[in-house]
Amino acid sequence: MAGSGPRASPRAGPGRTTVTEHAEGMLGWRLWRLRDGQLCSWAVTYEWKQGSNSATCLSPNTARCTHSPGRHCQCGFWALNSPLDCLARGRYDGIGWSPVMGLMRGWGTVALHGREGFRAQHASVVCLFSDWPFIPRAMRLGGKGWVRWWRILSLLLQGEAGPVPDQRERLGRLPETARAYGVPLVSIADSMRLGLLQELSVGTPALDEIRAWLKVAAE
Ligand SMILES: [Zn+2]
Repeated sequence: MAGSGPRASPRAGPGRTTVTEHAEGMLGWRLWRLRDGQLCSWAVTYEWKQGSNSATCLSPNTARCTHSPGRHCQCGFWALNSPLDCLARGRYDGIGWSPVMGLMRGWGTVALHGREGFRAQHASVVCLFSDWPFIPRAMRLGGKGWVRWWRILSLLLQGEAGPVPDQRERLGRLPETARAYGVPLVSIADSMRLGLLQELSVGTPALDEIRAWLKVAAE
């Protein structure tokens, strides 16, 4: 479980949503679309601000939630508990943006989605990772402990991710983006080496996933 989550209900299983108040904040992994130095939400049209962001319901349904995150909705700022789950969702269609993975802190009303992650009323960017978000082929193809992950991730992947594009513009943009949001920009390897993830208390399961990803990604 990423983040502190002291009020996370132990009864919350996969697919079950539990709505709770979380004053001190939960940490979670997410992807942004980097567009002209701006961090944009992955699935909806929203430009993140530096510091605190407050959710409003952007549901296409006419009856939008009066308070976000709504219990029977998908609104709020999404974060995932598993960095591998997050990396597996990295996608790129080459149209004016590039993917960036990072950590966010979410607080206020929080809708917990079992072991998957959570949706928060308020959120801020905590740090950004310079790595291209992808799952190495060896990890996709399973074997040993990865069989379980492959089965889970293959459901999400819906096919092979495309080749990694030229990174120059993206890597050129990221430092100024991180500065504008007032957050650190690190490689995933450095975040481990420098103890940043440990300091942020991302939790042992996430650290284990990151170690495994680094090992396979380096091969
Ligand atoms: Zn909603």
